[in-house]
Amino acid sequence: MSSNHCLYKLFIPITKADTISHLESMNILAGLCAKLTNQIIRQIELALCWSSDESDMRVSSVEAKSIITKSNIPGIDYVINPYIGCQHACLYCYAEFMKRFTGHGGETWGEFLDVKQFGLDKIKPEKYDGKTILLSSVTDPYTPLEAKYENTRRVLERLIGTKAKIEILTKSRLVERDIDLFKQIAHIQVGVSLSTLNEQFAKKIEPRASNPHDRLRALKKVADSGISTYVFLSPIFPKITDWREIIRASESITNEFHFENLNFRGHNITRIMGLIAEQYPELVEYYDQVRKDTTLWDVIEEEIKDHCTGLNLHCKIEFHHGGFTRSK
Ligand code: SF4
Repeated sequence: MSSNHCLYKLFIPITKADTISHLESMNILAGLCAKLTNQIIRQIELALCWSSDESDMRVSSVEAKSIITKSNIPGIDYVINPYIGCQHACLYCYAEFMKRFTGHGGETWGEFLDVKQFGLDKIKPEKYDGKTILLSSVTDPYTPLEAKYENTRRVLERLIGTKAKIEILTKSRLVERDIDLFKQIAHIQVGVSLSTLNEQFAKKIEPRASNPHDRLRALKKVADSGISTYVFLSPIFPKITDWREIIRASESITNEFHFENLNFRGHNITRIMGLIAEQYPELVEYYDQVRKDTTLWDVIEEEIKDHCTGLNLHCKIEFHHGGFTRSK
C-alpha cells in the first residue's frame, strides 16, 4: 500500500486550488495522511501477522521489582526478561526451569505468560554505560503477545541514550517492528536464532516461533537499516541441523555467526528423543551416544571452526556441555 493513494486528494478544493495556502494545506494533509496510513498499516500487520490470540494462553499481569537484572551468562552483564514464560514453546527450551521459581509448577511451558509490570522511570540508561545487556535469557523478547503488550518496546524506548551494548536475540519476525528504536540506540546488535531452515522440522521444535525464512527476512530488514546483526545457530541438532546451509542463506545479511549445541536437560530428554524416534528413527542410537559422550561435540566444533576460517566469517562457538546457557 502506498501513501500516494491517500484520500488527501479528496480534500483539495476544486476551485482556486493553486494558491500557496492550498498547497501548504495539501502538504500538511499529505503528511498527516502518510502518518495515519503508516499507523493503519502497522495495526493491520500486527493483526494479520502476529497472533495475539490469548484464548489458548493463561495471561496474567505481575508486578516486577526490577526489569533489568544481573546476569551470570559469560559476556553478559545484565538481562532483561519482559515476560515470564514464552509462547514459542520450543521443545528443547532450557528456560522451562523458570516454572519452579515463578509459581507455574505443573503448568505447561508455552501455555502461560506473565506480563511484567514495572516502573519505567526506574530505568536509568546511563547506569548501564559500558555494560552488555541481553534481551532476553528466559523468554523471547518478541513472543507473539509482545505485539499487544509492548513491554519490550517500552524498555527499549527507555534505554535510548544508553552507552551500554544491547544484544537482542529472538525467533520472531516481530523484531522488525522496532527498527525505529534500534536506530536510536548507539550500540546494538540484533540476532535471530535458527536450528533449521526446514519449515516442517521447525514447526515441530518451535511450534509458535516465526518460520525460519521469515526470521531471516526480518533480520535482513534490520541489517538494511544499518543495524549490526548476527545469526545464532542454536541449538544444533547433530546430523539434522545443516549449519552450512544456514550460513549460506544468511551470508548476504551478516558476517557474524554464533553456534550452540543441543543441551539435554532432565525435562527435555523425553521430548527430544521422542521427536528423533518419530522423525529420524535411524538417528536414535546416535542421539543416545551424543547424550552420553559429549566429546562428539568436539568433532562438530572443529568442523565449524575450519568452515568459518575458510570463509573468513566472524564465528563464536558457544558450546556447553552442561551448566547454564542462553535460552534462545
Ligand atoms: S528457547 Fe527461547 S524462544 Fe524457545 S521457548 Fe525457550 S525462551 Fe522461548
